[in-house]
Amino acid sequence: MKVAIIGGGAAGCFCAVNLRRRMKDVDITVFERANKPMAKLSITGGGRCNLTNTFEDIGQMKEAYPRGFRLMERLFREFGPRETMRWWEKEGVKLTVQEDSCVFPCSQDAMEIVGTLARLMREGGIEVRTRCKIDTLPEDYDRIVVTTGGSPRKAGISFLEPLELKVVEPVPSLFALNIEDKGLHELSGTVVEDVKIGIAGSKFEGRGILLITHFGMSGPAVLRLSSYAARHLAEQGYKATLNVNWMRGANEEEVRERLRQYAREGKMVTNEHPRHLTARHWQYLLHRAGIAESQRWNALNQKEMNRLTSVLTADTYPMTGRCAHKAEFVTCGGIALSEINSKTLALKRFPNIYAAGEVLDIDAITGGFNLQAAWTTGYIVAKNISQQ
Ligand SMILES: Cc1cc2nc3c(=O)[nH]c(=O)nc-3n(C[C@H](O)[C@H](O)[C@H](O)COP(=O)(O)OP(=O)(O)OC[C@H]3O[C@@H](n4cnc5c(N)ncnc54)[C@H](O)[C@@H]3O)c2cc1C
Repeated sequence: MKVAIIGGGAAGCFCAVNLRRRMKDVDITVFERANKPMAKLSITGGGRCNLTNTFEDIGQMKEAYPRGFRLMERLFREFGPRETMRWWEKEGVKLTVQEDSCVFPCSQDAMEIVGTLARLMREGGIEVRTRCKIDTLPEDYDRIVVTTGGSPRKAGISFLEPLELKVVEPVPSLFALNIEDKGLHELSGTVVEDVKIGIAGSKFEGRGILLITHFGMSGPAVLRLSSYAARHLAEQGYKATLNVNWMRGANEEEVRERLRQYAREGKMVTNEHPRHLTARHWQYLLHRAGIAESQRWNALNQKEMNRLTSVLTADTYPMTGRCAHKAEFVTCGGIALSEINSKTLALKRFPNIYAAGEVLDIDAITGGFNLQAAWTTGYIVAKNISQQ
């Protein structure tokens, strides 16, 4: 049997290695358009490779996989994060789990992951043809696996056009937000813990650490929001009103009570403030609420207290665009899951063609979940080819 794997990324290479384990005599060729395979994998997690997640902080799969959660839930019964961690450890890659449940190699080096897959492919006699961009579906193969990854344009998978598959329009996910606000930009580098950020007039919300940047906002809370609202924001041309709760999700009444306590103590507004906000950030928020820094807490009138409460719990910023660089960028969209046999990941109408990884309409928030999708789907395809 001859198997062609189109795309030498995380899903393609993982699939190739697992297929070799199950089928010693199959002829496996990986076609990769770049001059080396796994280029993206080598820069994941800032070069450290956040290869999976323990899922301890995830209540429902939908929180991790806004697209594809049902399929992932099903596939995890066969090969989920636990199996993935075991797989890598068996290959001699020691793993470490961070406090935030993200899993990395102990070496903190993505090249250990890349090197392990490259070695296993070499030892398994898997042919990797680099600088080989596939423009038409290869003939003379008994099975084809499409693992070309995410692409912000449908053109990335134009070689599938003859199959007339339903493709969900690809749009970017996991990006930082541009906000034109000079005062905010001056706080660039400020990290605020446990921020709730949402899009006005919608239910989309991200929660977690927020990083103020010289162009707007980034960090886990923002990347989560961009993932949940990826399609909505694309439809709105990346213009939206953002609502920010700077007070760890506390509601208006709770914050008002806290401010009243400060007023009882009668200190200066600049000296007594929520300690999770830096002094500079606090000054900026006072300014947004129109409160002079020279005031004492007990001199604030009701209107000023109301304005400050509102800034702290429902501060609003106009989003002017998405930041195209420096984020962990993945594609929302791809081959529609309705085209796929959810057990085998073969195309329903072309059972000898399979798909795995980000080329499918599956994507996740940050934290190792996207690579987990690549490992899981790559593994399931290998298993089903070997059983077909
Ligand atoms: C900067 C960055 C950091 C990231 N960090 C993390 C992280 O730490 N943890 C995490 O879980 N996720 C991370 N991600 C997301 C993760 O890298 C992807 O979701 C994952 O790589 C998808 O795997 P894949 O095999 O489907 O696609 P890819 O890894 O993108 O591989 C697809 C391959 O197919 C090749 N290809 C495409 N078209 C063709 C063609 N026509 N012919 C031949 N070859 C083709 C491409 O060159 C590529 O090598 C990160 C993404 C980025 C951009």
